[in-house]
Amino acid sequence: MPPPSNLFADSQPPGEGRYDYLIVGAGFAGCVLAERLATQLDKRVLIIDRRNHIGGNAYDCQDAGGVMIHRYGPHIFHTNSAKVFDYLSQFTQWRPYEHRVLARVDDKLVPIPINLTTLNRLYGLNLDPAGAAAFLAERATPLETIATSRDVVVSQVGEELYRKFFEGYTRKQWGRDASELDKAVTSRVPTRTDTDDRYFQDKYQFMPLLGYTRMFKRMIDHPNIEFLPHTDFAQVRGLVDYGHLIYSGPVDEYFGFCFGKLPYRSLRFEHETLQRPWYQSVAVVNYPSPDVPYTRITEYKHLTGQSDPKTSITREYPTDEGDPYYPVPAPENAALYRRYEDLAERTPGVTFTGRLGTYKYYNMDQVVAQSLTLFQRIAETTAASA
Ligand code: FAD
Ligand code: UDP
Repeated sequence: MPPPSNLFADSQPPGEGRYDYLIVGAGFAGCVLAERLATQLDKRVLIIDRRNHIGGNAYDCQDAGGVMIHRYGPHIFHTNSAKVFDYLSQFTQWRPYEHRVLARVDDKLVPIPINLTTLNRLYGLNLDPAGAAAFLAERATPLETIATSRDVVVSQVGEELYRKFFEGYTRKQWGRDASELDKAVTSRVPTRTDTDDRYFQDKYQFMPLLGYTRMFKRMIDHPNIEFLPHTDFAQVRGLVDYGHLIYSGPVDEYFGFCFGKLPYRSLRFEHETLQRPWYQSVAVVNYPSPDVPYTRITEYKHLTGQSDPKTSITREYPTDEGDPYYPVPAPENAALYRRYEDLAERTPGVTFTGRLGTYKYYNMDQVVAQSLTLFQRIAETTAASA
């Protein structure tokens, strides 16, 4: 496909870039930076994405039946950062939402993270919090060092609960055993001995009232920002005139995979609209069993608060093929990433950011924080050189 002709500045003054910044990727990383650069530093920004929409993986839209869905799987906003929350609050109103997840284990639906209710329901017990703590302590495997994602879980709840809740899910999700993943992965899911069944305990837990896409539209609605969908960086590389490149795509791809491919795990999403008002009692049900090919089912109306006689669900099937969604946190991948990171640092005129650009298993709020910090650095450098 030829590059879009409106990009090329026939009339630009010699030596002056038409855009101050070219931003690759219109997800959280790209849109936050575009907004900050345009509104705070009066920079001219072109933001491109190879997809046909803004929002990156947080993109939401109505499906054919008019039900709001998240095209790339459930995105639940949560943060402890007032800075991040206040920043995003300029572009959206919020709907209070606390995420709760059930897991189908032994033909029962029980809360995950494992809590007091999980243990009582699974084993037909009537423990109190002290009883639950003793129950887990008896089963936990004492370990001197916690190095892997398997260690994290077995040292807290023991082998049996590990097998029931984590072993199969993790193998499906990552295509490898939890013992081959950094401890950070399963550390995302705590263990509790009380009845708190919320997935997150962050201070701010909300969903954007009218959806993520509306929020992104407001962020980049500025005369200094142009957005080009359907545009891969490879198509316009060397053709667009810009001062500096901010790249939130996969860092290994930028460098032509010169050190080899960084593994990213992908997902196939099976979206379905059902002619009934509800499918399940909570937004997400996890299926840790190896006998079920998907990891979880999401029902969006719980997240969005939409009222509709129909409902929409998504099943997630992990795979190695397809769009890169998850960096795979493991020591050998971190070592390979460091080689790219080192090369990135020696590449003038380009800044790598975001979940794919820095190969970090970041949540949305962490990417926003990363972008705000990066912007601060750019603003200080700009001020110093003015
Ligand atoms: P992305 O959203 O991936 O955006 C990068 C963009 O760059 C993409 O749109 C891509 O098309 C574009 N791009 C890449 N290469 C090129 C190129 N060469 N040319 C042009 N465009 C390019 N976080 C939470 O906080 N809560 C959740 O509940 C949550 N759930 C998640 C569920 C799933 C299934 C996934 C995959 C992630 C989830 N996340 C969640 C994480 C969240 O999606 C990320 O933190 C966030 O979207 C990262 O933003 P980003 O801008 O770095 O990357
Ligand atoms: N996990 C699991 N069973 C569960 C939930 C999570 O084994 O029921 C493990 C799995 O390895 C998963 C990781 O914990 O990838 C982190 O879970 P989280 O829900 O944070 O994953 P995400 O929403 O990022 O896909």
